[in-house]
Amino acid sequence: MSTKDFLEKDYYKALGVSKTATQDEIKKAYRKLARKYHPDANRGDAEAEERFKEISEAYDVLSDEKRRREYDEARRLFGAGGFRRGQGGGFGFDLGDLFGQGPGADRFGDLFGGLFGRTGTRAGARRARRGADVETEVTLTFSEALEGVTVPLRLTSEAACASCQGTGARAGTMPRVCPSCEGTGQETRNLGSFGFSEPCRVCRGRGMVVDDPCPTCHGSGRATGTRTIQARIPAGVADGQKIRLKGKGAPGEHGGPAGDLYVTIKVTPHKVFGRSGDNLTVTVPVTFAEAALGAQIKVPTHRGMPVTLKIPPGTRNGRKFRVRGRGAPRRDGTKGDLLVTIEVQVPQKIDDTMREALEKLRAAEDGDALRSGLLLQARE
Ligand SMILES: [Zn+2]
Ligand SMILES: [Zn+2]
Repeated sequence: MSTKDFLEKDYYKALGVSKTATQDEIKKAYRKLARKYHPDANRGDAEAEERFKEISEAYDVLSDEKRRREYDEARRLFGAGGFRRGQGGGFGFDLGDLFGQGPGADRFGDLFGGLFGRTGTRAGARRARRGADVETEVTLTFSEALEGVTVPLRLTSEAACASCQGTGARAGTMPRVCPSCEGTGQETRNLGSFGFSEPCRVCRGRGMVVDDPCPTCHGSGRATGTRTIQARIPAGVADGQKIRLKGKGAPGEHGGPAGDLYVTIKVTPHKVFGRSGDNLTVTVPVTFAEAALGAQIKVPTHRGMPVTLKIPPGTRNGRKFRVRGRGAPRRDGTKGDLLVTIEVQVPQKIDDTMREALEKLRAAEDGDALRSGLLLQARE
């Protein structure tokens, strides 16, 4: 969020509250609107998504007493968007020129670049620069990772100081043109027939000097800001995966593009399902009789109806079956498979009917014959 946002956006209007609203009123208004416009309730509705972002941003600022004061102050000083092209007392530049687009910009260059840059005296001082890439981490549930989710991410990055709008000058004062270099930021020294240009020592190349530095940023014009963005995590992401959200990193400077945001995904395990690449895994218990005789068993699918799996007679413990198309979503819209591992159970509680049946089975089977080969081979 930049100073530009502060001046251009009416957060009170976004939440539909008055400028004197209490924290309680703000919270209530936010909750109501957030429920209504949440992307999960409005899939594919770009307008709702935009509105949701707007509401989140407004709440982010207004729910924080300190930032709310800064916001109110910024708008009081510069008059809610009134400092636009041709309105601010005849300055012929817009807010983009005035404040640049992001952190660490040469604020003085921004502020008066529109005046000096165009006459060529400060050429090169306003080069567009891409914003920095930002890294963060998010923990998702197993289901969120499979289905995709919109999550709020709180990011910390360098931004314009909100107290001074990035000028470095105490609120209510303005930096003035450096008297030494007359705003060029360059000093020219003549050595014989050669002229050398170097950064002005009085203003350190900024072209402007601050008489009364901003107490918040000590004149640097920069601050560490936090912002919350709503990040759409695509369906099918896996634990440890790093995804790139283009243009969600730090804002660019002087009209440069924003950097990218890299989000490392952590996924909490599911009680039933595991994950193996695009495939989901599940272990299903069967009785000894089912395994021996073959059976049709019901197998759970993730967030779907169970499917019937036919296991053939003589299915061994640990045997794997594949249910096609019931795995994790892939990028191309198809799905991986569900890998079912059979776990043959030995009954732990035996009633009379079972005992009778099992004893009959024991009598019918020949345990000694089963092991005879093993005993024989052991002697070799
Ligand atoms: Zn200077
Ligand atoms: Zn400041």
